[in-house]
Amino acid sequence: LIPPKRIYMDSRPHNKLHIYFLPMMAQGHMLPMVDMARLFARRGVKATLILTPVNATLVSKTIDRDRELGLETTIRLINFPSAEVGLPEGIENQSSITSPEMSQKMLKATELLQQPFENLLEEDSPDCLVAAVFFPWASEVATKRGIPRLVFHGTGAYALSVYRELSQHKPYKNVESDSEVFVVPGLPNKITMTRRQLPDHIRDGTESHLTKLIEKVMEAEGTSYGVVINSFHELEPAYSEHYSKAIGRKVWHVGPVSLCNRDNEDKTRRGSTISINEHEHECLTWLDSKEPNSVLYVCFGSLSYFSNVQLLEIAMGLENSGHEFIWVVRKEKKTKEEEDREEWLPEGFEKRLEGKGFIIRGWAPQVLILDHEAVGGFMTHCGWNSMLEGVTAGVPLVAWPLFAEQFYNEKLVTDVLRVGIGVGAQEWCRWPEESKVYVKREDIEKAVVQLMVGEEAEGIRSRAKALGEMAKKAVGKGGSSYNDLSALLEELELNTN
Ligand code: UDP
Repeated sequence: LIPPKRIYMDSRPHNKLHIYFLPMMAQGHMLPMVDMARLFARRGVKATLILTPVNATLVSKTIDRDRELGLETTIRLINFPSAEVGLPEGIENQSSITSPEMSQKMLKATELLQQPFENLLEEDSPDCLVAAVFFPWASEVATKRGIPRLVFHGTGAYALSVYRELSQHKPYKNVESDSEVFVVPGLPNKITMTRRQLPDHIRDGTESHLTKLIEKVMEAEGTSYGVVINSFHELEPAYSEHYSKAIGRKVWHVGPVSLCNRDNEDKTRRGSTISINEHEHECLTWLDSKEPNSVLYVCFGSLSYFSNVQLLEIAMGLENSGHEFIWVVRKEKKTKEEEDREEWLPEGFEKRLEGKGFIIRGWAPQVLILDHEAVGGFMTHCGWNSMLEGVTAGVPLVAWPLFAEQFYNEKLVTDVLRVGIGVGAQEWCRWPEESKVYVKREDIEKAVVQLMVGEEAEGIRSRAKALGEMAKKAVGKGGSSYNDLSALLEELELNTN
């Protein structure tokens, strides 16, 4: 990328560049895009986030707080078409989806948002649109209005490159079995995979609503102005270039955007309706009492689903490792009855591990926890945001990919960056079987011990710390992401004046 001629700093005080941000209705898309909008606003942009009502409640306090600080960040609401797609009222986010059928309905809703969105565009006439990849119609809409559309994928250039090469060369067709290893060709590093680690739609090769949508997405990317990525050059330098070449579009790395959450209040509120409440305060006090780098943080993002037998296996693996941990379980206790029959917890687990293990049911203040000096490891599903947040905090990772592009990300962690180790997950699976154990307790225990202590662990920790430093430098004044954002804003300013 060409370095910026000058830093864009509020150069149109009276007529600010106005950018619309349209995120997907999932935490892994919405949270980074909200952070991105806030980051842009800090650089003098008027940022408008387009959200459905339920999603808006999750971030409105954060936005209000920024406004109090004088930033021009606004939320505009767009109604979620619950009745039209047949989803119950209030289900507006992927994290509330519990079946493949509901997932289909959610995708349908993203199509139906086009008209109401166009109405907003008409009213506000922004200068530019940053829209999530799963709104392929956004490129067409932007062209119609004569404004640039930037694509936001939610993942890094590395995973996007792997995906491109897999779709183009289909190396998985040349192997005899699902467990035979193949090399993904055309990449800067040697990346090996098996068919079992690939998403259903790639493996089956059958046409579905999703595959058609992906086709449209690729097309829309090709006609977009470019791509903004929540990552930083130093993390995946060869892949930024590779991906930009592959799509023939400019790519701007502006992250890690989660670093725009500077204080504990911001970090706690991220993606949650609550402020620093008792629960989180309790978790911080607990962490404060621990030695540096001694606690493993275990969290599998906002969409993961585990059967009771697998949860039980995780519990036993953690206990047997002998290490202290915070474990986030996406199951909230609702009634007294439910409390009494938490089948996924081994008998007497919480009592036995009092002071040693801390379970958070529901939503955890992840960025806040990762930044705590007591946290010395992160067992993650390798969702891009989680992975990047771990790297940014300089924390070594235990990679346990589940679905989406997480198996690609795992290789980045273990083979390319070497800031973590794999737990041994072998099978891509969005909706796991109730009675199947995918990763055994022995493997969980082994991975945790290997990550937390010993010579190998020290090497991993020092590489992770170095990468964390680079991440912070990247977003600081004069850093690579800071400069990329300057260049992007300058270009937009020139093109839209
Ligand atoms: N997250 C959080 N608390 C939780 C679960 C998730 O703050 O209890 C945040 C996490 O910090 C990340 C996002 O939600 O920013 C999840 O995105 P990711 O790409 O890691 O995974 P996904 O949820 O999309 O699978």
